[in-house]
Amino acid sequence: MNTREMFKRAVAGGYAIPAFNFNTMEQMQAIVMAAVETKSPVIMQVSKGARNYANGTILRYMAEGAVAYAKELGCEHPEIVLHLDHGDSFELCKECIDNGFSSVMIDGSSLPYEENIALAKKVVDYAHQFDVTVEAELGVLAGVEDEVAAAESHYTKPEEVIDFSTRTGCDSLAISIGTSHGAHKFTPEQCTLVNGVLVPPPLAFDILHEIEKKLPGFPIVLHGSSSVPMEEVNTINQYGGHLEAAIGIPEEQLREASKSAVCKINIDSDSRLAMTAAIRKHLAEHPGDFDPRQYLKPARENMKKMYIHKIVNVLGSDGKLAQC
Ligand SMILES: [Zn+2]
Repeated sequence: MNTREMFKRAVAGGYAIPAFNFNTMEQMQAIVMAAVETKSPVIMQVSKGARNYANGTILRYMAEGAVAYAKELGCEHPEIVLHLDHGDSFELCKECIDNGFSSVMIDGSSLPYEENIALAKKVVDYAHQFDVTVEAELGVLAGVEDEVAAAESHYTKPEEVIDFSTRTGCDSLAISIGTSHGAHKFTPEQCTLVNGVLVPPPLAFDILHEIEKKLPGFPIVLHGSSSVPMEEVNTINQYGGHLEAAIGIPEEQLREASKSAVCKINIDSDSRLAMTAAIRKHLAEHPGDFDPRQYLKPARENMKKMYIHKIVNVLGSDGKLAQC
């Protein structure tokens, strides 16, 4: 399904839909198990990097498999969106639309304003013929993830959002209010030390509220919203990893954002951390294991646990299927 009804209900209901990236079968299974157990709608998203890694055709059929799997797990009416994350050209978006994606993002945020509008409008005009919804982005997020990188962030300008959404016809808008891509969202110098923990600068809720005032009820998207749990980082480092100063967005802030017009929250790094932590721990404790199933099973379990936690304790999308 596309995101239209899902977002309408999320904005009205004061919760957000999880958008989890996936590259592997284990991630896909963990996402579906978590969504079914919590009766949550879910967006499964594919980045350009995921397509390069796993192949776009395979990911498309994995998403179809995800819907069938959710039904097999007992969910009669699963709500699953297959979404392209950070499409960077009309051609890529068109290819995904032609291949069964129900939603795409066109990210023209690094382009000059008028070019961003022209590109987004071109994608919207094509996508809407097939009832595919389109996310566009205004403002620039800092950080690095897959092939998306920017040195510094530029907050979304509230005075541009009405013009941008009207002229592009986009269905949702990704904004920049201080979230950031990757597991190293902030330098320690940008943070304050509170009880021995580095706390990053708060999200710009004033900008979010201004945007909400300009576009009442319009679906807003937050990228780069992993919280980078210290528990997973510590496990990784305890079992031979070397992650330094990994800092994410505090979950309380994402919880607060979920209650507003923010109706889609992107989480990718936390899944990577959960998978790597479980694999490192398993292999350190079982040095004789060499069957990938032996370490991918706890990895899948750990990701599922993390997804359920996000759905229930952070985004509040549990129990929000239209029909269970
Ligand atoms: Zn992103």
